[in-house]
Amino acid sequence: FKSKLPITAVSIFSQMSALAEKHQALNLSQGFPNYPASAELIALVDKYMRKGYNQYAPMAGMLALREQIAKKVAKLYDVSIHPETEITITAGGTQALFTTIATLIRPGDEVIVFEPAYDAYRPSVEVFGGNVVPIQLTAPTFAINWDDVRAALTPRTKLLILNNPNNPSAKALSVQDMEALQSILAESNAFVLSDEVYEHLVFDGLAHQSALAYPLLKSRSFVVASFGKLLHTTGWKMGYVIAPAELMKEFQKVHQFNVFSVNTPIQLAIADYLKNEEHYLYLPQFFQEKRDYLLDGLRGSRLQTLTSEGTYFLLVDYSRISDLNELAFAEQLTRENKLASIPVSAFYSKPVEQQLLRLCFAKDQDTLSRAIDLLHTL
Ligand code: PMP
Ligand code: GLN
Repeated sequence: FKSKLPITAVSIFSQMSALAEKHQALNLSQGFPNYPASAELIALVDKYMRKGYNQYAPMAGMLALREQIAKKVAKLYDVSIHPETEITITAGGTQALFTTIATLIRPGDEVIVFEPAYDAYRPSVEVFGGNVVPIQLTAPTFAINWDDVRAALTPRTKLLILNNPNNPSAKALSVQDMEALQSILAESNAFVLSDEVYEHLVFDGLAHQSALAYPLLKSRSFVVASFGKLLHTTGWKMGYVIAPAELMKEFQKVHQFNVFSVNTPIQLAIADYLKNEEHYLYLPQFFQEKRDYLLDGLRGSRLQTLTSEGTYFLLVDYSRISDLNELAFAEQLTRENKLASIPVSAFYSKPVEQQLLRLCFAKDQDTLSRAIDLLHTL
């Protein structure tokens, strides 16, 4: 048997969460909230299950939910998305990413990926015989030099994968970035996979720059979102993708044989829950408070904090504490100091001279407070 993914290992998130459990360490590694989801939302799921909504949803998803998504997107980005032809409900952002890649990528196609990159992109591209063309961005700014992107384009470039705000760098793209990308795309036929699962987690009054808000980008993009991040329910594995109708038609040809459709009662519950826009408009403030609590708490420690403009992650530089590489240091920290984090090297295909760990602050106050105490002992 010849593996299609010979060098792919168990994901760093599973590895570090398992290590955290083994050593009874505080888990700031894998990105997930450790506080409860809304009781009102859970009651709605319960209601729809009891009412008998327990059979297959339509392939593209429940229309009630697609209509709420179209409304939310119109409000946030001032664009009109057709709920019947331009939205599909998926099993988390992950399935939306994978199915988009399956829809587009043929052997030999090139896919531009910015590193540090979320771990799902490369293997998904490689399963379909595509070649990843990485562009490395480095701390502290992780700024994109758009001339490098232009230079990386070839006639074989089929897709550019963007993750904004970015996991793990916590950087949010600016209007200038989006305009530069748009002008580059005008010279190419490439598509864009815009992973915007952290769209609501943007801080300090910054506005999220969705690909949907830029007409040329919108016409070429598959925009991916996750209800796991929106509703603090990563275990429900619910998300969606938005794309122009003719692209969505192709996406759905794959989707119907990939999962066919996803959880019916949860879709109905989310559709009701999103009718109250306060149920998502509070998110930037909610997570900014957690970010600030962690940032303030780490002041005076030997860790240097980087800027977190979005996502629920904060990067810290430990170069004043240890010379170990990131994986070795993250493992030592879990074993000896009982705090699990993610080594940023896991998001790069080639080594980079950095000593950074990613901390997830989607945690309750008590967990963050105990993490701060542990990190002050370093
Ligand atoms: N993209 C990014 C950048 C992510 O961080 C994650 C998961 N946290 C996903 C996609 C996957 O989302 P989901 O959990 O909804 O599958
Ligand atoms: N996206 C989550 C993170 O970055 C992990 C999701 C997963 O474990 N696949 O931590």
